[in-house]
Amino acid sequence: MPKHDKPFLGEFELIQKYFSRHQENQSPSLILGVGDDCALLAPPSEGSVLAITSDMLVENRHFFGNVDPESLGHKALAVNLSDLAAMGAKPMGFNLSLALPNSIATNSTWLEKFSRGIYELADEHQCLLMGGDTTAGPLTINITAIGEVPPDQALCRNQAKPNDDIWISHEVGDARWALGHLRGEWRINADDLTLARKRLEKPTPRIQLGLALRNLAHAAIDISDGLLGDLKHILKASQCNASVWIDQVPVSTQLKQQSTELRRLCSLQGGDDYELCFTAPQENRSAIETLSTALGIKLTRIGLVDFVELSSGQTSTIKLFDDTNQLIENSLANQYLKSFDHFR
Ligand code: ADP
Ligand code: MG
Repeated sequence: MPKHDKPFLGEFELIQKYFSRHQENQSPSLILGVGDDCALLAPPSEGSVLAITSDMLVENRHFFGNVDPESLGHKALAVNLSDLAAMGAKPMGFNLSLALPNSIATNSTWLEKFSRGIYELADEHQCLLMGGDTTAGPLTINITAIGEVPPDQALCRNQAKPNDDIWISHEVGDARWALGHLRGEWRINADDLTLARKRLEKPTPRIQLGLALRNLAHAAIDISDGLLGDLKHILKASQCNASVWIDQVPVSTQLKQQSTELRRLCSLQGGDDYELCFTAPQENRSAIETLSTALGIKLTRIGLVDFVELSSGQTSTIKLFDDTNQLIENSLANQYLKSFDHFR
């Protein structure tokens, strides 16, 4: 068993104290939770299959070491729930694997806040903490979340169809805008920063929207690495091109007041907003607008999947247009189309 250094506090006391609150009686589907060699989870409801996703957050790569631990707990789960949302899946449970430096393993305030951030979001979506692993090491949080979805209704990336509208939920760009301030690329005033930072540090997974889109959308992706780059994943998988009206991409009132260049950079290239970008047949426009009102989430049409289907091997292209309907010239367009890549 001792395959790695143990946290100073005692691994089992730490798990027991901070990460074993969800117990079996909280859900009929969790037959056995934290504390044994495996959790036991009942199969999904009839007609559904499991949707499984993992996302890892590493200190100084995905977050700053001094980030509020409650927000960090929230975000670690939120990015995973966001993947379930982008698949149209309903959350069931998650595993939490932690590498903790001793300074954190012995810091009860940090651990309490971190677990509170996780549990608050987990409870909101009835997603149960089923188990995990805990080891000493540089601060790293890995979550594997499990959901369920009928396979024919899953919002797979390869399901976009020519002539589909391209939609986006709420607003994008604030997370990148806040990050730029924290990295010293530009300055944001205190009030605007509070709002933008919330979008960076406490993103909202669009679970209800994902579920409602099962019958309305063809393909979806959550925006983690930048709108245009993420949209490209859909287009590539669906072998289509697209046109996007970049000045129609919804941004916050604060970001709207910034220069065109900054607004475009943050909203088109910036990641970490965890909004959904999805494609849907044009005949569903009014149903999607009704859904937007019902959920209280702004949904905006920003483009079209182009008519021409690509033959395999050809790469997808996105034509970008400004607010006067002018095509954005190539070098600028290529700059906007670059998205985040950990190994570049
Ligand atoms: P094993 O040695 O069998 O892998 P562990 O000693 O790693 O078991 O974990 C003991 C129990 O605590 C297991 O049920 C595991 O799922 C759970 N667990 C470990 N770390 C966490 C964590 N960070 N959050 C929730 N449950 C955890
Ligand atoms: Mg283990």
